[in-house]
Amino acid sequence: MENNIQNKNAIKDQVAVLKCTSYDKEELSQKIEKCVSLIGGFEKYISGTKKILLKPNFLSASPPATAVTTHPAFVESIIEIIKKIAGSNIEITIADSPGVATPHTKRDLSKLYEITGFKYFHDIPGVTLNLDTGYRTVSFKDGKVLKQLEVIKPVLEADLIINLPKFKTHSLTRMTGAVKNMYGIIHGRTKTLLHTKFMDIHKFNDMLLDVYLFKKPVINIMDGILGMEGEGPGTSGKARETGLILASTNGIALDNVASILMGFKEKQIPLMSCAMERNLPGFELKDIAILGEKIEEVIISNFILPKNSNIDRITKNRFANTYIFPFIRNTLSISPYQNKIKCKLCGTCRDICPEIAIIIEGEKLKLDYKKCIRCYCCSEMCPNAAMELKYSFLGNLIFSKKRKILN
Ligand code: SF4
Ligand code: SF4
Repeated sequence: MENNIQNKNAIKDQVAVLKCTSYDKEELSQKIEKCVSLIGGFEKYISGTKKILLKPNFLSASPPATAVTTHPAFVESIIEIIKKIAGSNIEITIADSPGVATPHTKRDLSKLYEITGFKYFHDIPGVTLNLDTGYRTVSFKDGKVLKQLEVIKPVLEADLIINLPKFKTHSLTRMTGAVKNMYGIIHGRTKTLLHTKFMDIHKFNDMLLDVYLFKKPVINIMDGILGMEGEGPGTSGKARETGLILASTNGIALDNVASILMGFKEKQIPLMSCAMERNLPGFELKDIAILGEKIEEVIISNFILPKNSNIDRITKNRFANTYIFPFIRNTLSISPYQNKIKCKLCGTCRDICPEIAIIIEGEKLKLDYKKCIRCYCCSEMCPNAAMELKYSFLGNLIFSKKRKILN
């Protein structure tokens, strides 16, 4: 490993990238500390702080091997490093409002902690594994599209946030990283309602940026040791050993670099075009100093991107997105389909669908594709990877050929 500054001009933000292939405690702590030291070290960001909130990705109650959630060993190592630096008087809270399949109740949070391997954190001195289900409505006058947010209480009570996203693809937003991970500070079912309010992919990303900017984390440290490819971010995606840790104080810059490592083209993910429109630092790769590994040596080969990524190539235009996208959405975008073999008819997808577009009839799910807004929450929240995302006949004709040409 060498210290590599790839852009010496106009350095605005730094993103550290380090190889790490195991959740073995010793290696992990050493690599996380090293990675954060490249951007200034933990001391710089946490000294003098009393209450730290660690914000992992607790999307759903899935075991660590599925790569749906931030790995418990990753969070534990960060706690140990923080305690070593700040002393044992520091108060650390771990909190997230999971995806809507896990109602924001004490009982459901406890179940999620058990399945994701976090239950033992209740016994770590100085650490609170959040069971407070309260939230407050707060105004945000600087928000572009979101002027009011319903935020979970531990977030509002913390002095600072350390954001711990997972390296994953996302069928709707193409990837989920530091910015999208902060969506979990929004209370429970409100998150689903925001899908309906911000159906347009760019407006949805504008909303994500508002949430991120409302309570900007001091550091973002990404668990990319076991990542996810394909139709993430839930069980429909595939866990893949990606062997990386990323760190940055700028979540947009971190996501930018992570998207390149996944194999996206520069500014291909809609989040970057939204950041560019708002002139938020981090959207321009040439303005980022990438420290640690040489980026070209750690780009993951043959990483499977979500199917909808190809659609971005024909819908980059904002006008087309706003006025033609409803047509595109219904004819070309991928749509959810029940896999009857995997489906256990648990009803989760029906219960969380913001448009009430799913009903259960006998042994079958009936989807109303006219109502469906293609938010993919059903696929994301299905515990059995049974809501598969496929192109329509027309979409398949276009994109199966296009994929060969463009990729
Ligand atoms: S598709 Fe998944 S979430 Fe929906 S009923 Fe079947 S198993 Fe449950
Ligand atoms: S059916 Fe699925 S993709 Fe369609 S609106 Fe409902 S949750 Fe979203």
